[in-house]
Amino acid sequence: MESHLFYLSSNPRPELERAEGIHMWAKTGKRYLDGSSGAMVSNIGHSNPAVLAAMRAQMEKSTFGYRLHFMTEPSERLAAKTAALCPGDLNKVFFVSGGSEAVESTLKLARQYAVAKGEAQRFKVISRTPSYHGSTLGALAVTGYAPLAAPFAPMMHEMPKIPAPRAYLDGLDLEDPATGEHYAAMLEAKIVEEGAQTVLAFIQEPVGGASTGALVPPKGYMEAVREICDKYGVLLIHDEVMSGGGRTGKFWGADHWGAVPDIISISKGFGGGYVPLGAMIARDDMVQTVMDAGGFMHGHTYAGNPLACSAGLAVLDEIERLGLVENAALMGDKLQARLRGLMNRFSFIGDVRGKGLLTAFELVSDRGTMEPLPRELNAFDRLVEHAYAQGLIIYSRRTRGGTSGDHFLVCPPMIIGDEGLDELMEMLEAALVSFAAEAGLDAGQ
Ligand code: PMP
Repeated sequence: MESHLFYLSSNPRPELERAEGIHMWAKTGKRYLDGSSGAMVSNIGHSNPAVLAAMRAQMEKSTFGYRLHFMTEPSERLAAKTAALCPGDLNKVFFVSGGSEAVESTLKLARQYAVAKGEAQRFKVISRTPSYHGSTLGALAVTGYAPLAAPFAPMMHEMPKIPAPRAYLDGLDLEDPATGEHYAAMLEAKIVEEGAQTVLAFIQEPVGGASTGALVPPKGYMEAVREICDKYGVLLIHDEVMSGGGRTGKFWGADHWGAVPDIISISKGFGGGYVPLGAMIARDDMVQTVMDAGGFMHGHTYAGNPLACSAGLAVLDEIERLGLVENAALMGDKLQARLRGLMNRFSFIGDVRGKGLLTAFELVSDRGTMEPLPRELNAFDRLVEHAYAQGLIIYSRRTRGGTSGDHFLVCPPMIIGDEGLDELMEMLEAALVSFAAEAGLDAGQ
């Protein structure tokens, strides 16, 4: 049957029948292990009974109350719970329906805050390459992934970029504080080059997502970045759309370094695949300044609707009740150890990285030089297909700025246990063997 949707994968995909826990079933009856939680979304697994019950109960009462007409209990409670999870003075919450909306909101709040403070000359937002911050024009302007932005270049204000701290590609030691200093110095240099008084904010993913493949910053980097931002009056935005919500083994990715930004964005695991939901959380005094100056000139119609918030609240409750942040840390360590184990067999696995269950591996021709596999092998596409054939879903991206290189995110739901991990690893290993055979690569024993 011809599809009238034009956002589907160009590879043939089965029709989804149902999903439960870490598994998904196609109409054909074939079972898949959701090894990437969709796009790192279904953090608490599929069809969680408590979330479904909370949504049903809320649906019986009301599904929508426009935020300018009513306050609702689910949105107030979710805001309070979210604020309590935030570091520092970040306790004002602005709901949205997705990651791009959340990032867009951070940029606009930052800008309005600067204007309200009498610093209207600040408008540049520095970001990193590669990075992914969203598909709307503002979020895309700070996204460092050239192929996505190229067609829209004339429609966006070009924003300054610095290299993401990819120590593993630059042959630098992640544990050496000099490495962190090295990459943070690039931020300071860029601020100075642009003219510090024109720089509004720096936005980064504390633990990298799809574009970098779970990039972990080097020692000292997060601390140095905060210091540099403070030195020049530049706001620090943490895009935790993917890393927030516990996937990294701490509630916020930045919690691994005790790093406190001025604004945070979250989505994906926040709605957990049950509803489209996201949020921006900002410093109390920033929000007050903007409100005193006439209010935030931004908003989305579905923001904070009671149905979405009831689901979000139940998702957070389940994360707490089931100890899923702790489980993500534990199972993430096991997953990473086993992926590293595969490096003994497959010489074309060049790097394994991540925090908790935000984990990835990268394929290369040569581990010494980190030379990518030949582009023609289309590894980023082909290995995913081999995994699919096994019944395993993983998520891939081109590593080197979207043009070459292949990395794969292995990010199962945070409810995964030892049995699920065994199943995942067995299918992944089989997929690597059949991919290696097809690509003429050494598959060891
Ligand atoms: N920021 C980050 C870090 C993301 O990973 C994503 C989604 N991959 C977005 C923003 C955009 O989110 P959405 O697709 O929900 O608009």
